[in-house]
Amino acid sequence: MAIDIVNPYDVAVSQFDQAADRLGISQAMRAILRKPKRELIVNFPVRMDNGDVEMFTGYRVQHNITRGPAKGGIRYSPYVSLDEVRALAMWMTWKCAVVGIPFGGAKGGVLCDPHKMSRTELERLSRRYATEISILIGPTSDIPAPDMNTNPQIMAWMMDTYSMHQGYSVPAVITGKPLAIGGSEGRLEATARGVRVVTQEAMRELGLQPERCSVVVQGFGNVGSITARLLYEIGCKVVAVSDISGGVYNPRGIDVPLALRYSREHGKLLGLPGTEAVTNQELLELPCTILIPAALENQVTRENAPHIQARLIVEAANGPTTPEAELVLYDKGVTIVPDILANAGGVTVSYFEWVQDLQHFFWSEQEINQRLETIMTRSFAAVLQKSREQNTNLRMAAYLLAVARVAEATELRGVYP
Ligand code: NAD
Repeated sequence: MAIDIVNPYDVAVSQFDQAADRLGISQAMRAILRKPKRELIVNFPVRMDNGDVEMFTGYRVQHNITRGPAKGGIRYSPYVSLDEVRALAMWMTWKCAVVGIPFGGAKGGVLCDPHKMSRTELERLSRRYATEISILIGPTSDIPAPDMNTNPQIMAWMMDTYSMHQGYSVPAVITGKPLAIGGSEGRLEATARGVRVVTQEAMRELGLQPERCSVVVQGFGNVGSITARLLYEIGCKVVAVSDISGGVYNPRGIDVPLALRYSREHGKLLGLPGTEAVTNQELLELPCTILIPAALENQVTRENAPHIQARLIVEAANGPTTPEAELVLYDKGVTIVPDILANAGGVTVSYFEWVQDLQHFFWSEQEINQRLETIMTRSFAAVLQKSREQNTNLRMAAYLLAVARVAEATELRGVYP
């Protein structure tokens, strides 16, 4: 697989630096915002089903908490690194600021291969990791959520673990929980719903009609599979989808509800009737109008960027496009809706979940979806307007808005003591 050797934290810092240059913010402010506020590394034992004890390493990084408590998901993956978690934490700070949610940015990760672990091993790992990072997390300090390879059940175990230590239930310590224990209506679909909103807004801007658009989605987990379904429902032709085992392609269009059922039953997409197999790299270069990376970082690289045929890229994943690839794509006239805007629907509804948990007062799904739609539409419009005013691309425009907001809050609060 052709992947630029790109450190996500270097990418995140260079994106910030470019925005800071353009905003002309002071060296002192730049120094404050460039570095994560807190970084915790934990090494902890987990008893495996065969009786052996294995050591695992986990991270929790808080990039910035000036605008509110730290917020960010937890990722389980054999490839998690401290620099990846730092980058994801920094992107969370800008993401919350760009959509105007009063949270700072954080992220967590555990180095493990969840596909090779049993449910009971995963439960013990999740509970022990939650205990290890409990010196940082809390309903007013740092509120985790799901990310790659974590899900509502894992959030439930972590919420229970934290609550057991307190002696009472603390649902607001974590979001993305199941409904029965203080989760929110609409949270499961929220990230994808937000991706759908910004995709439609971008299509309108580019004069593209849904029924004339073909879509390729990389990643068929929470974000990718629901995004594919929502775009299929508005009339787009989804021509290819993929998961870690590879992609499936049909230029005449894929029956997305069938793909969802097939993936649930078989644990993969490969073999979906009526499709041909493609690799994840081939998938990115297929003819399509809209490409939606919804898996992981560094997928659109300087190697494959020249071959990408999409007119519009909507970054449902965090950090899927390397900076070098981006330059190639801009030269080709491709529009990119950046991650910090495109996938902000998840943290937006996480914020709603947290507010509901703190108030013990729950809203209807319709109310949540409406508020989400309003925030995503308004944020897209603000980023678009900024890009016009500043004659720049949507990523830089989103950064200009976000970094200015965090810098203003930092300036107002001052440097303690
Ligand atoms: P997930 O674990 O539910 O799904 C990930 C999908 O990507 C799976 O289908 C997996 O098979 C596939 N995948 C993994 N490695 C791959 C590879 N090398 N090539 C191709 N496909 C691969 O995760 P998710 O929650 O859907 O998150 C996906 C992306 O969206 C991540 O970048 C995450 O940070 C971002 N994101 C998620 C949320 C959320 O609410 N879950 C919110 C904002 C951003």
